[in-house]
Amino acid sequence: MPDETADSSVGELEEPPEQKKRKREKQPQLTRAGQPIDRRQRLRIPPHHVTKQTPHDRIHNWREVYFGYTAGPAMFEAQRCIQCPAAPCTQACPVGNDIPGALAFLEIGKLADAAAVFRETSEMPELCGRLCPQEALCEGSCVIGKNAKPVAIGKLEAFLGDWDREQRGGFPIPAPEIETGQRIAIVGSGPAGLAVAEQMRSAGHDVTVFEAWPSAGGVLRYGIPNFKTAKDIVDEKVEALAAAGVEFRFDTRVGVDIDWDELSQWDAVFLAHGASMGKRLGLDGERLARVYSATEFLVRANLDDAKLPSALRGDLDVGRRVVVVGGGDTSMDCVRSAVRLGAEQVTLLYRRTENEMIGREEERRHAREEGVTFEYLTTPVGLINKDGAVVGVECVRMSLGEPDDSGRRRPQPMPGSEFVIDCDAFIVAVGYDVGREVYGDSGIDVNDWGEVIVDEHGRTSRPGVFAGGDNVTGADLVVTALNSAHAAMPTMLSYLEELQTERALAMAAG
Ligand SMILES: Cc1cc2nc3c(=O)[nH]c(=O)nc-3n(C[C@H](O)[C@H](O)[C@H](O)COP(=O)(O)OP(=O)(O)OC[C@H]3O[C@@H](n4cnc5c(N)ncnc54)[C@H](O)[C@@H]3O)c2cc1C
Repeated sequence: MPDETADSSVGELEEPPEQKKRKREKQPQLTRAGQPIDRRQRLRIPPHHVTKQTPHDRIHNWREVYFGYTAGPAMFEAQRCIQCPAAPCTQACPVGNDIPGALAFLEIGKLADAAAVFRETSEMPELCGRLCPQEALCEGSCVIGKNAKPVAIGKLEAFLGDWDREQRGGFPIPAPEIETGQRIAIVGSGPAGLAVAEQMRSAGHDVTVFEAWPSAGGVLRYGIPNFKTAKDIVDEKVEALAAAGVEFRFDTRVGVDIDWDELSQWDAVFLAHGASMGKRLGLDGERLARVYSATEFLVRANLDDAKLPSALRGDLDVGRRVVVVGGGDTSMDCVRSAVRLGAEQVTLLYRRTENEMIGREEERRHAREEGVTFEYLTTPVGLINKDGAVVGVECVRMSLGEPDDSGRRRPQPMPGSEFVIDCDAFIVAVGYDVGREVYGDSGIDVNDWGEVIVDEHGRTSRPGVFAGGDNVTGADLVVTALNSAHAAMPTMLSYLEELQTERALAMAAG
């Protein structure tokens, strides 16, 4: 029977719409933490910048450039957030971090609650806070940024992640409530693989991660230099996962050391092998001594021998003059690493202009401050060989023609503009492709670039095999790798549940 009393009482209390509107206008809006939002007052708060090492200091060490926030300035900076109801910052974040929600706790000193909000949607906020191109994502959408400096979301996120780990003595990995006994194989231990390992282990599954390198982290370890992200964060993450029961099998290349017959023994497989095949220029002389791929150069410059395969151990010989070719973040990582290795003259070659460069403006600024010379509209066409080693790069100047498929103006060589730059080392940083060795006879559908074809739930063409990260999207970002891993996880979990039910029914029947 309908509750007429309740219905009529609501009817009696119903206010006329005008009165309701006036009342709503009078009520102060509150943050997620219950604080009133006075937007005019918030707009008057000046930015609280973090300090960083001077260029002179930082070229003599490999430590992170930024010192990062401490609690007091971080709380002031968080108060600059005007708590936009539509939260464009959250919408621009590939993993959908509730940024206003986190900053609402931070501004009143509830640091643990603030950190927990970031951890709701990201397995590694301290890394995203350091590595995301915030100017193109959250901070690029920050409404404050229209007239002033946007809220320093990335550095606040990094501060909260670091603070939280310090308090807890490491990364918090949610403990499973049950053990399912189901087995998951993950190929690759970059951000996508680690995110899936964490979620699957927390759901109670047995997780094995196969990794070709001697240690875990993917590009976080074997690519991104220490001055962008200290490796101890990556170490802590991997240690926390191992302590939670994730098994890592290093120096194991899927498709070479282990095949699909063996992988089929796992209940589900997640492919997270990234895009780690450095592209080559196709020049004669690319095999000369002191010609390096970006990855070889970066890992040898940034890691101790103990973390490297034996073939890559030993002193890295770059001499005084280094030339790097490329236009993205990897090329910036190379030039800046070369400076820290003691090279006196470091030159970047890029075939278009700065306007067409795809990496972060901040990275280019840092490189310029550190003394790197940029040669735009220039491309290498040959390498000069002396006694088996590179001693110079033959270059040609370019001009920009009509836009190509990417929308960027196509560079074309200017006849007669050839010249030589003498060098002691040459580094190729012109992008990455997806390696195909993993696929073997799996029958998994891939596109022309070797990227795994998945549906919107991360399912590949082979039942029980899912994929995410750069091997699906092509070389991209840490945060987009996390996002594509997240997209696959609910479907992967349901797949495992259905599998368990089917097995239980079969056992009951048999
Ligand atoms: C030098 C460099 C700098 C970068 N800087 C930034 C940055 O500042 N900010 C940012 O957001 N992004 C940056 N990126 C991009 C970012 O690091 C990647 O988008 C991200 O790491 C992709 O994550 P992933 O998990 O898909 O793959 P990866 O991190 O590439 O990890 C894949 C893992 O799979 C392993 N693997 C490959 N094949 C096999 C196999 N057959 N068997 C077993 N294991 C295998 C690899 O060894 C690797 O460990 C950078 C990339 C590079 C190369």
